[in-house]
Amino acid sequence: MVDAAQGAQTEFKGKVLALSGGVGGAKLCRGLAASLSVEQLTILANTGDDFDYWDLRICPDLDSVMYALADLNDEERGWGLRDETWRTLIAMRRLGGDEWFQIGDQDLATHVLRTQLLHAGHSLSAVTKQIINGLGIRHSLLPMTEQPVATKVNTDQGWLDFQQYFVRDKCQPEVRELYFEGADAAVLNPQVRQLLEDEDLAAIVVCPSNPFVSIDPILSLADCRSLLKHSAAPLIAVSPIIAGRAVKGPAAKMMRELDMPATALAVAEYYGDLLDGYVLDEADVEYADAIVAMGIKVCVAPTLMTTLDSKIALAESVLNFAASIKA
Ligand code: GDP
Ligand code: CA
Repeated sequence: MVDAAQGAQTEFKGKVLALSGGVGGAKLCRGLAASLSVEQLTILANTGDDFDYWDLRICPDLDSVMYALADLNDEERGWGLRDETWRTLIAMRRLGGDEWFQIGDQDLATHVLRTQLLHAGHSLSAVTKQIINGLGIRHSLLPMTEQPVATKVNTDQGWLDFQQYFVRDKCQPEVRELYFEGADAAVLNPQVRQLLEDEDLAAIVVCPSNPFVSIDPILSLADCRSLLKHSAAPLIAVSPIIAGRAVKGPAAKMMRELDMPATALAVAEYYGDLLDGYVLDEADVEYADAIVAMGIKVCVAPTLMTTLDSKIALAESVLNFAASIKA
């Protein structure tokens, strides 16, 4: 077992900024955390999924990443904590309270503490820092912004809040459009703005997260896209689509509903001029030439992360690829 906090597995020099959603992003972040030192890695997580439930502030993507970095996540269920119990949820059901979003007994502590600290006036970055300290995580994990941003989904059933679409309605409604409420007024996390100007920044990694609801909210923050594009560090995305399918979640279904082919190539086209490099799964090698023709460098690697070793192996491939682009 590799200790995520120990790092220095790789020869990679310099700092890395990783943009992440929840579960898919968290898997690569776990690999990056094994390969990079505490000083080297900063993870910027989507907060467009955040919402209030049971009067608690829930930040699903931050939680997925922190639980994965702490090796406390439930790999089988795909979300939440391992060895979780559900007594509070069962009690809530008995009382007739909301139960469409499942909160486990241990997970509840995260949301209660976060809500308390936010109410006491701390920033979401400071609150996240305190919670990850408690989990023994030493790498930096930051929310994309301190301000609230809420993803809204326009569907064949009208506008839905993201978690209503994603959890309550199980991604069944047909997606027509996405809107990030509050993004116009929200400011990219200042620590990341600073990192983007740091001459030691050597790679920006867009994790294999849902491009539309995990990465786009980050890119929609004022100046973010142009800051990323003009950074001296190469920007590399890992395809969340393998052989025309999402490993988990609605990314492929969403692409079809948004009139895009559900392919790794279409994801590269969607990110477009943001990309210096793109990591394609071995199953999608057929798209390599088309992506190279767009002026984007391509790395073909096994991208399905089912074990800690496969997460570390993909992280190492991404870092070596970044180093080769930089050179
Ligand atoms: P969410 O916020 O929990 O929905 O998670 P993300 O947006 O970070 O990740 C969802 C995306 O991750 C989906 O499009 C999946 O296809 C992708 N994904 C999940 N596991 C893997 C994996 O092992 N490899 C790759 N390449 N993509 C993955
Ligand atoms: Ca998410």
